[in-house]
Amino acid sequence: MMSLKECINSVRNGQKSCEELTSQTLKRIRSEDSYNIFLEVYDTESLEQAREVDKRIKSGNAGELAGCVIGVKDIICLAGKKVTCGSHILENYVSPYTATAIEKLEAADAVVVGKTNMDEFAMGSTNENSYFGPVLDPVDKELVPGGSSGGSAAAVAAKLVPVTLGSDTGGSIRQPAAFCGITGIKPTYGRVSRFGLVAFASSLDQIGPMGQNVEDVATILKVISGYDKRDSTSVNVEVPDFQLELSSPIKKDSIRIGYLSDMYGEGLDEEIKKSIMETIDKLKTDGFTVGEVKLPHMSYAISVYYIIANAEASSNLARYDGARYGHRAEGAGDLKGMYLASRNSGFGEEVMRRIILGTYVLSAGYYDAYYRKAQKVRRLIYDDFKNAFQDYDVLITPTTPTPPYKIGEKIDDPLAMYLGDIFTIPVNLAGLPGLSIPCGKTKAGLPIGLQIIGKHFDESSILKTGHYIEQNY
Ligand code: GLN
Repeated sequence: MMSLKECINSVRNGQKSCEELTSQTLKRIRSEDSYNIFLEVYDTESLEQAREVDKRIKSGNAGELAGCVIGVKDIICLAGKKVTCGSHILENYVSPYTATAIEKLEAADAVVVGKTNMDEFAMGSTNENSYFGPVLDPVDKELVPGGSSGGSAAAVAAKLVPVTLGSDTGGSIRQPAAFCGITGIKPTYGRVSRFGLVAFASSLDQIGPMGQNVEDVATILKVISGYDKRDSTSVNVEVPDFQLELSSPIKKDSIRIGYLSDMYGEGLDEEIKKSIMETIDKLKTDGFTVGEVKLPHMSYAISVYYIIANAEASSNLARYDGARYGHRAEGAGDLKGMYLASRNSGFGEEVMRRIILGTYVLSAGYYDAYYRKAQKVRRLIYDDFKNAFQDYDVLITPTTPTPPYKIGEKIDDPLAMYLGDIFTIPVNLAGLPGLSIPCGKTKAGLPIGLQIIGKHFDESSILKTGHYIEQNY
């Protein structure tokens, strides 16, 4: 399958119509999606849209994404279409409005072909928590594709679509990108509007693109970024032309690269460590300034995340009560019984575990001991990054401590699964941008992901560094 850039070029120079391209994509999805990637495919509408795009191409006023067919994680709203969040409780819920990110894509003439599978309410690292069944990793069908944007990662890896949108609260774009051998970026908190992204943990959630290479995600990132008055946490800063920036050669003296000396301890796979260190050595040999940094509070990140994210989730998910949204249990007696039965039968086990934990840490008597303390440690983690960025412009880490593992291997041990987010979670807690790119394979042929972390709103530097590594090594 062609990359996004090739798709756009082929439509622009008349080799293919957008309709042809879209119809080929739909056919591929219908015949090759044995991985359980797509939850819904918009056959009729996407062809109609493609024909409109073709008209605009003919009249010379097509948008910059004419020729882009894209899949979207089923937690991002599209008016008149179901948004299930991978949950039974929203199984038949139809979105009343469209997310800003999708509005921007469509305004640039991208065609949304359907919605991708995910862990329920974006809680998980393997896609096994989806009510609609697990997604299989196109690298090897016995493996997990990562999560929670596993469907969006697998769609690119299986070459069904060139690009997708995912969402990332603690690693959900970068970790599945690593497990499927593709590229994904979590933008700075506030860069992309969250309007129309169903909330999991509002202080951490961001929408971001996934694709075959750095240039393609840069193209999508530019379009979906920008201030939106409908999201009070969106930030009004200039959006660079991320893709254009990649066309000029990198200035080696303008990007100083730090790597985390204290993150290579226990639990990190030897082959991943070797591969990341080899890349760092090559960068050094190539003339980049490279040095070690320490993030002393890093080891608290997972504990802090599972207090803050769960606290926010318990509040955000209170709205699913059987009365206002989605699934309602029948014959449950009085109102309270209806609430209980609807939530009990509507949510899966992991979602319930998190609501219970989140409610606990916010309850009177425990608030100070857990929630407030976690907020304070979150600040210390942020300060660690701030110190590191005094000497360096980007930081390199592995994306995940292990390569993808077998379906079923960790599902009964939530803690083991949580530990897999050690490198991605601190980035969300600090609100920073993070990119994951492929970095070779293990001897067994499993993909390895390399993460590049940047300063707030400096996606440019991590994209440039990622592009350099992708093109040269
Ligand atoms: N794996 C993490 C979790 O389960 C991150 C999920 C996410 O980023 N949405 O919470």
